[in-house]
Amino acid sequence: MSDGCVIVTGASRGIGEAIARELAAAGYDLAIVARGAERLEALAAELNGETKVKAYAGDISQWDDAQRIVTQANEDFGAIWGVVNNAGVTQDGLFVRMTPEAWQKPIDVNLNGTFYFTRAVAPLMMRQRRGRIVNISSVIGVTGNAGQANYAASKAGIAAMTKSVAKELGGRGVTANTVAPGFIATDMTADLPDKVKAGMLAQIPLKRLGEGKDVAGVVKFLLSAEASYITGQVLVVDGGMIA
Ligand code: NAP
Repeated sequence: MSDGCVIVTGASRGIGEAIARELAAAGYDLAIVARGAERLEALAAELNGETKVKAYAGDISQWDDAQRIVTQANEDFGAIWGVVNNAGVTQDGLFVRMTPEAWQKPIDVNLNGTFYFTRAVAPLMMRQRRGRIVNISSVIGVTGNAGQANYAASKAGIAAMTKSVAKELGGRGVTANTVAPGFIATDMTADLPDKVKAGMLAQIPLKRLGEGKDVAGVVKFLLSAEASYITGQVLVVDGGMIA
């Protein structure tokens, strides 16, 4: 069922790295993607062994890079079983001061990047009549957040796109789901002031920040045989924060 590789974007650190580690341990062959080649290649070298793990440096916000990487991975592994669109960025700022450039950044990377990779793998998955698309959104795409209008819009867009893709590709045996993490301890959240982190923690019923592996386990489930009747869903992984 899992013949072919799983592409994981943003795999060089944080949640993406945790996803790559979890999937490699579960026996998936992986095509891992990020802009910076050094960390990515070191991770591929570390994980490559019982499963095949290859690094593909590229910028997900560029359509040409997405096409190049998907074509190359398909050639290298013979097929693509899944794509995990995880790479993402924030560019926070108050809405009334937000420049068009600041607005555009998370749209280009998070929303367009997810579109480009999903668009590049979709014809291959439709032809092989199987495949899994897992897109990483955020609870902020559900609730919105002061200072994150651009990020929230990009993440809500991902969930809406994924539901549409689920409807179009379901008949070809391809599922598409969104995972919406809450507050996960990574580089993305490391620089937040302690006061903001304490405020977040106070809103989490499970009384701890999430870890990359909390998200990785859910991604692994969505790629598995057990999840074959789940599509078009948003799975929130947030310790109960927005329950
Ligand atoms: P992170 O630690 O900042 O890691 C981001 C990863 O994405 C890195 O591997 C980075 O590598 C890659 N990346 C960034 N821009 C890229 C681009 N244009 N092209 C290719 N790769 C790119 O982030 P994270 O916290 O793990 O977040 C991962 C995902 O989860 C994001 O979509 C984020 O929005 C989402 N999320 C995170 C949290 C949280 O609390 N951390 C909560 C909800 C959702 P390079 O810099 O080398 O390219």
